[in-house]
Amino acid sequence: MNKVQSVRGTYDLYGENKRKAKRVVAVGSRIVEKYGFEEIETPIFEFTEVFSRNLGDTSDIVTKEMYCFEDRGGESLTLRPEGTAGVVRAFISEGMQQNLPVKLYYTGPMFRYERPQKGRQRQFTQFGVELLGVETPQADIEVIAMAYEFIESLGLAGTVTVEINSLGDKESRDAYREKLVAYLKENYDKLSEDSKSRLERNPLRVLDSKEECDKAVVANAPLYQDSLNEASKAFFETVLKGLDNLGIKYRLNNRLVRGLDYYSHTVFELVTDKLGAQGTVLAGGRYDGLVEQMGGGKVSGIGWACGVERLSMLLEEDVSLPRPIAVIPVGEEAEEKALAIAYDLRKAGFRVEQAYSGNLKKRMMKANKVNAVKAVIIGTDELAEGKVTIKDLDEGSQKTVALTDVIEELN
Ligand code: ATP
Ligand code: MG
Repeated sequence: MNKVQSVRGTYDLYGENKRKAKRVVAVGSRIVEKYGFEEIETPIFEFTEVFSRNLGDTSDIVTKEMYCFEDRGGESLTLRPEGTAGVVRAFISEGMQQNLPVKLYYTGPMFRYERPQKGRQRQFTQFGVELLGVETPQADIEVIAMAYEFIESLGLAGTVTVEINSLGDKESRDAYREKLVAYLKENYDKLSEDSKSRLERNPLRVLDSKEECDKAVVANAPLYQDSLNEASKAFFETVLKGLDNLGIKYRLNNRLVRGLDYYSHTVFELVTDKLGAQGTVLAGGRYDGLVEQMGGGKVSGIGWACGVERLSMLLEEDVSLPRPIAVIPVGEEAEEKALAIAYDLRKAGFRVEQAYSGNLKKRMMKANKVNAVKAVIIGTDELAEGKVTIKDLDEGSQKTVALTDVIEELN
């Protein structure tokens, strides 16, 4: 078997795709930093319990998607499948509770054993934010606004819709769960095997199922809204009003629950119809119980994460780099000078390409191949007079300028 290939569900990112992914992360970083978020880098692997205890033991991630392994010391470790649990682990182990609120963002690879398809990889990149220590709905508004500004800055405001729902507080969730279970039991025979077992352990997750038979049942399930208590309703209304106030459009989606156990109150997704079944590009919500569950005291949290590859696929324009200047020596004596000129031009901020070998004609061809805008041609005779030729490669015109004037001329 030919082993010179990447593992199923993993990809080499280079060229245009890498440039796009880089742009997504650069735009994201610039925006969230304006809101006061600072970057954190947590390890790519954690003790398995960090995920298995906190993402919910019936979640898809924990039941079938984690890359777990035992290290040489016998510890059970897991390649992170998502960012929140690791960031909250760091928040607690680094004692960050002392100085609330804490605003963090992260980017990096995540690992899930999934069935690979377009927009669904086994190693993928997330860019995400976590805001810890703010209980009020103002945090929800700000965090969603930040996600929206991010999407807008990528030129995707017309492609992506904000969907939002509230899961309410614990009392509301419990009330809803009871109604839902009663309804699902009436429809037990129509459910998928997975959902039958979810019904026992975490019925809310049936709402999130991607199986057609489950979707048909879910379509007529009781609405979450009707189970929210007054406090939860008021919280949600404040969030929606806040978004209205900022002119951010959203769609209420009563079926929206998130796949993980730790969410409460606001949950939201940014979705597109341009990526087939993998239409969610960004997802998040409030997780008021998570920090406490992980042993870190009563600290509320809210955050989101986006799939960098999915967002990159939506970017139409390649990000073009500035066209380079080609530096071309003619004759052996000019070679050394060419290196020095290239060095100076780069220090002055130009992108410079050198055609490293061949005669003038061959080197000019290389300059055109890299789409150089101008060529600085260094001939031995001119060099003796302290001059070089600058050729405009679009127009074909050329002129001789003093070495000391090259930068000014190129500007
Ligand atoms: P899905 O419903 O598509 O499986 P999810 O609910 O599992 O998504 P989250 O855990 O919320 O996804 O992750 C946040 C974002 O990360 C998703 O909205 C998506 O853009 C991206 N993402 C999740 N899983 C993958 C994957 N396997 N490959 C590529 N991107 C992914
Ligand atoms: Mg998933």
